[in-house]
Amino acid sequence: TQFTDLGLAEPLLKALAAEGYTTPTPIQARAIPHILAGKDMFGAAQTGTGKTAAFALPMLHRLFNQPRRMQPRSVRALILSPTRELAAQIEANIATYAQFTTIKSTVIFGGVPVGKQIRALGQHIDILVATPGRLLDLVDQRAVSLREIEFLVLDEADQMLDLGFIHALRRIATLIPAKRQTLLFSATMPKAIREIASAYLTDPIEVAV
Ligand code: AMP
Repeated sequence: TQFTDLGLAEPLLKALAAEGYTTPTPIQARAIPHILAGKDMFGAAQTGTGKTAAFALPMLHRLFNQPRRMQPRSVRALILSPTRELAAQIEANIATYAQFTTIKSTVIFGGVPVGKQIRALGQHIDILVATPGRLLDLVDQRAVSLREIEFLVLDEADQMLDLGFIHALRRIATLIPAKRQTLLFSATMPKAIREIASAYLTDPIEVAV
């Protein structure tokens, strides 16, 4: 399989070509067709497998093909990440894949002042990458709304639980529409992750690499 066989929108293929990516990694080849079809996904995958592009490319494709007028400070896709480093890396990858579209992303995380992040959310943002605690701070400050979310990605879900984000995740889930596409990735599959998966995913495809 090549990226050109997956039915991805032209500007995404152009960005992949510009990066020199021609062949999907195994998780990309397996996950992308199902995510394009709108399925929820439960993915067992480590960092380094290409899992970021596995969820980002089909998500960008769907957002690109179905433009929507959004309320101010409202985002269409939310990617939750355990650490600021991972969040920043995911957002940088998304910006690269989206470079030939008008889709905009930003990243928010704790440990830095909120001012710049609040200003960034005042622009029109489609995709928000966030760590859970800072996200809830900014929701409580009305800097961002999750009421129009179409895509939720929980990345490195096991790490988020290990870092004590379970209560934040539960609260975030109550703020997001039930009708959405949800993707959950975890390197390990302890019982707590299986419970999260059964609570948040609907009839998911399971992919392990
Ligand atoms: P990830 O597992 O998402 O952190 O990706 C690992 C690294 O592989 C990142 O630096 C990606 O930019 C790169 N990468 C992802 N997909 C591909 C691909 N299909 N071909 C070549 N490199 C890729």
